Amino acid sequence: MIYMKNANSSNKSKPTTISDCFYSLNVKLLDFFSSTQHSEDFKQTRSLIILVRLKFMCLLFSVSVPVSSIFDLLVLGENLALQILPLRLLLSVSLILVFLLCKSRFKDHLLHILLCSAFAIPTLFYLAVAFKLQTLGTTLPQSLAITPFLIITMLGLFPLTIRLGLFLFCFISSSILAFGFLFLNLSYTSLIHEFWQLTLFGGVATWLQLGQLSMLMKLYRESTVDPLTGLINRRVLMRRLEHICEQSVTTNHPCCLMILDLDKFKRINDEFGHQSGDNVLVALSNILNSHCNNTNIAARFGGEEFVFLMTNTPIEYAIRKAEEISSSIRETKIQTENGQIITITTSIGISQLTGLMTPQHLINKADELLYTAKLEGRDCIRY
Ligand code: GH3
Ligand code: MG
Ligand code: MG
Repeated sequence: MIYMKNANSSNKSKPTTISDCFYSLNVKLLDFFSSTQHSEDFKQTRSLIILVRLKFMCLLFSVSVPVSSIFDLLVLGENLALQILPLRLLLSVSLILVFLLCKSRFKDHLLHILLCSAFAIPTLFYLAVAFKLQTLGTTLPQSLAITPFLIITMLGLFPLTIRLGLFLFCFISSSILAFGFLFLNLSYTSLIHEFWQLTLFGGVATWLQLGQLSMLMKLYRESTVDPLTGLINRRVLMRRLEHICEQSVTTNHPCCLMILDLDKFKRINDEFGHQSGDNVLVALSNILNSHCNNTNIAARFGGEEFVFLMTNTPIEYAIRKAEEISSSIRETKIQTENGQIITITTSIGISQLTGLMTPQHLINKADELLYTAKLEGRDCIRY
């Protein structure tokens, strides 16, 4: 499943939970269909891209729509152009409003509402203009008749899931067809013709959307996951920690962070070779994955250092978890290509999130305790 927590390319452990998770390399069709299985972090990344494009689109059209009155003047004449001008200005002001409402710290559903508004407003504008010209006994000029196709094509600018893209397409096209049927008295043949044209444009827009979504997933994967172990990397961990630290101010949920460092790992590389060292790192990430549930996140922090983050976890439970992980690591035997057996141990430092701690404070605290564990003989836990 894509963006599942700590699922992994090289290790064979099961992907864990989906609630607050990252990803695996198995892209599933479902991930293109809806965002329900996407991790919070990926949702935020995607939302930010949608937001930036939405703002740009609103700004561009809020300027170009009133300017297009010049063409109304040339094509429709002064009288009709002046009739349409208030609608153009209304559209422009509404788009500026959507632009101003676009804030970077948005919940997903609020962004969806804004996105839907940004497409609903020009659709309504088109219907209002068509209705106005109809009442004035004038047919829609070509420059305005292409508006629905332009709106649908604009859907292709965004990395939308199939579900959201289809929803917007159905909303726009059904409004236009229903209006044509009810107010413009279009014949069935004309309606089918229009439906077919809208569907063609909708198909191209969906193609573009999915292309963007798949590219985004690929880039996201490459920039957030450690290729050797398949665990999330330091960058995502820090983003996640920032979010947790912000939330903890209001929620007061206990949260603990464990830093694990393999003992004398350099010696394993020197004795058994770099490839065996890599296998050890993969084995360790497998162990961490097997200890994950939906409140934990495992990350490769760098080199042979790993972080195991435990949200909603009091320190007593975190210590017990560290002991379990530590003994799993001690019991693990890794076989080299020559049939030699490698055993490993880790030193662990555990810090607890308190008060107004920043992610860096939390990590520094665990790091100091890890250092103490190293000084006090290794293969032990300090908190
Ligand atoms: P300590 O018990 O004090 O932690 O000793 P250590 O040998 O584990 O620590 P040190 O920092 O001296 O060495 C870490 C080694 O980890 C050095 C580096 O070559 C190795 N290393 C870092 N990243 C990788 C990797 O991706 N693969 C392999 N095979 N080795 C790595
Ligand atoms: Mg180290
Ligand atoms: Mg080490």
